Amino acid sequence: MEMPKTKIAMQTPLVEIDGDEMTRVLWSAIKEQLLLPFVDLKTEYYDLGLPKRDETRDQVTVDAAEAILRLGVGVKCATITPNAQRVEEYHLHEMWKSPNGTIRAMLDGTCFRAPIMVKGISPVIPAWTTTITVARHAYGDIYKNTEMTAPEGSRAEVVITAKDGTEKRALIHDFKGSGIVQGIHNTDKSIESFAHSCFRYALDTHQDLWFATKDTISKVYDHHFKDIFQEIYDSVYKKDFEAAGLTYFYTLIDDAIARVVRSKGGFVWALKNYDGDVMSDMIATAFGSLAMMTSVLVSPDGKYEYEAAHGTVTRHYYRYLKGEETSTNPVATIFAWSGALRKRGELDGLSDLMHFADCLEKATIATIEDGIMTKDLSALWTGEKPAQGVTSSVFLNAIAERLSAMLSA
Ligand code: NAP
Ligand code: MG
Repeated sequence: MEMPKTKIAMQTPLVEIDGDEMTRVLWSAIKEQLLLPFVDLKTEYYDLGLPKRDETRDQVTVDAAEAILRLGVGVKCATITPNAQRVEEYHLHEMWKSPNGTIRAMLDGTCFRAPIMVKGISPVIPAWTTTITVARHAYGDIYKNTEMTAPEGSRAEVVITAKDGTEKRALIHDFKGSGIVQGIHNTDKSIESFAHSCFRYALDTHQDLWFATKDTISKVYDHHFKDIFQEIYDSVYKKDFEAAGLTYFYTLIDDAIARVVRSKGGFVWALKNYDGDVMSDMIATAFGSLAMMTSVLVSPDGKYEYEAAHGTVTRHYYRYLKGEETSTNPVATIFAWSGALRKRGELDGLSDLMHFADCLEKATIATIEDGIMTKDLSALWTGEKPAQGVTSSVFLNAIAERLSAMLSA
């Protein structure tokens, strides 16, 4: 394989956040085969593998988030969110919180998820000729809820106590039989950040922005989201949107879903926390595969964290531990690196680094379009060339060959 003579320079280090299981194995293979031969890689390394999180009592997660706030751009490997079974498996001191949750809260970020499209892997909806990006609000609602069961004959009320001690009350329900109650909240500050991140991202990527909630039913809560978006649009972004020939509109979520399905794609769809969670899984699956979904967390003041949308692919890891070569798809993790390197290049004015990121993505897509891919993709393949489902390492080698040729050209 022909290698370029000089490596591409970096200036500011990337915050490199390592993770767990199969994705941790892919992480070092991607660095070894696709990055280190070509780039004089500068990173500040944080090991968020579960053993290290446990050893540092999760301080390493906070340190990593602070590093992103300081340096501006991070790239993250998938990590285990521990449950009871993991506490046993890893002999943990505690059931540590989701690292993504901690980082999201510290960055006050919005999560943008977009599929990677290749010829030969067709969306379930044929009209989608280009991507749909889901922007998910990453704070509050049911993810910070308080819930209780209500016994027969009980009364549930909402009480808001003001600073001066005065109370506002509203009846939720008088329970004749037993039932359940849930309290949720959000804050103006977080909704405003969400709105700013969405408008900026849409302008940055030159796409229209759609926003949808259920404000006809939730006349105060969801309506408040709608009002905040509209105020921020009118006062800050309207001129820029109009100048760029872009549109922002709000519509009821039912209507949005009908329009999304009938659309061609090519827009950012902003959604509240729960709606964004489920709709991004739907969009990922409908575009082909969760392993082809990228994710970037963007803070309102322009800090970025890139990652794959999928998890640590545990089932493959257990097979890997038994000595089996797996066919785990590294594409979303490769695109996390290319996204982060491109952003770093943009912020530091390094056009060679940006060019490298473009080539890395092109080489990855070209490899698949040549019929070489992991088995999750070969199962979905509708391209003309026959598809070979290969191991991760054969796939990474095939990308490296194409990348090397592109960079030497
Ligand atoms: P997952 O790791 O995304 O995997 C679910 C299944 O999807 C896999 O078993 C595999 O199916 C398929 N899959 C996902 N990514 C793939 C890839 N790159 N290549 C090939 N197949 C792929 O989700 P999970 O099993 O629910 O979660 C596993 C662990 O990941 C959990 O500990 C969870 O906490 C963590 N997690 C982390 C993040 C994150 O850090 N962002 C996100 C989600 C989950 P087959 O086995 O059928 O091949
Ligand atoms: Mg989900």
